[in-house]
Amino acid sequence: MITPRKRYLLTPGPTPVPEDVLLSQARPIIHHRTGEFREVLKQVMEDLKYVFQTQNEVLIFASSGTGGMEAAVVNLAAKGVKFLTVAGGKFGERWKEICSSFGVDFVTLEVEWGKAVEPQDVEEILKSDKNIKVVLTTLCETSTGVVNDVRALAEVVKKYDAILVVDAISGLLADELRMDEWGIDVVVSGSQKGLMLPPGLGFISLSQRAWDIVEKADVKAYYFDLKKARKSGVNYDTPYTPAVSLIMALKKALEMIKEEGIENIWARHAQLAGICRNAITSLGLKLFATRPSNAVTSVSLPEGIDGSELVKFIRQEFGVSIAGGQGKLKGKIFRIAHLGYMNIFDLLVGIASLEFALHHLGYKFELGRGLLKVEEEFLKQYK
Ligand SMILES: *Cc1c(COP(=O)(O)O)cnc(C)c1O
Repeated sequence: MITPRKRYLLTPGPTPVPEDVLLSQARPIIHHRTGEFREVLKQVMEDLKYVFQTQNEVLIFASSGTGGMEAAVVNLAAKGVKFLTVAGGKFGERWKEICSSFGVDFVTLEVEWGKAVEPQDVEEILKSDKNIKVVLTTLCETSTGVVNDVRALAEVVKKYDAILVVDAISGLLADELRMDEWGIDVVVSGSQKGLMLPPGLGFISLSQRAWDIVEKADVKAYYFDLKKARKSGVNYDTPYTPAVSLIMALKKALEMIKEEGIENIWARHAQLAGICRNAITSLGLKLFATRPSNAVTSVSLPEGIDGSELVKFIRQEFGVSIAGGQGKLKGKIFRIAHLGYMNIFDLLVGIASLEFALHHLGYKFELGRGLLKVEEEFLKQYK
């Protein structure tokens, strides 16, 4: 085991939190029904619109990202509204599970894990079933490392007078997403991924078309009642006690995001992801996703190497957390995230620890090849 023990979080959530963001949570708690807190809430609600690329309000819940997903389903489940869930990974399946939990009328489009959803497959279903009014999909399907073309999906969905709901929990800030410009109706996210925060906040933003459905629905939610949250939000307030410290941290994280600029953040993620993919293939390993996300790189394991063992070895020996496979991909793939507060040095740590582990586990490759690739690719682009 390497000492001193240092931790490196290269998982697609939670992700590392910048020092200044951590410190911003350490201040004494202020009361939330005060002008002082409302000023903070006003600022973060404004800045979140920039991150979501929308003019619609972004509502904040004290929940993980899944709370936002549940809020979307429960509030859109109006009478006569049928849902289409797009599977293709663990998080696509979560949409199915939430719909089942609430007895919502839905059908599912199954997508092979590792592949992106084909917009024409969604179109076929919408064409044949006019009752479908809500399509639930994922930007980055974190379990497979695939990014879906939500822009193309939004176009298709609009043609059939339905709305598109996107789980952008891991994709936000890593994969380009322009809610208003692309006509996406609902975007859901969470704090512990691209936003560089600890876990504990869920976010949701809705277009007017989505609100029109919510207005008609007899909503069976209490905490996740979006109409109630929106009404309070108008006065920069929340119906219940907000996660005050996390919102202080959010304010700081959003300042950093605005300073770097969203286009630069997308470009940084694209650069790191591109370099990571090249380093992986230079080691003779195969990428798992056919349409890879810039948040996380998923890699098929070579014959004879167990993914769970590899991930455990890297964490225990080196203090580096990468992710294994989830659900039916358990033991079959591993995933390295380059999401949030990350730069090229984090990637070097990831590739170095991977090489150490592969070498130790007996995989045959040219030691240092991946690291060299990272350095070469980086220098090529470095100005
Ligand atoms: C992490 C993640 C979730 C789950 O978020 P929680 O914060 O754990 O509830 C859902 N969808 C995607 C795509 C994710 O990456």
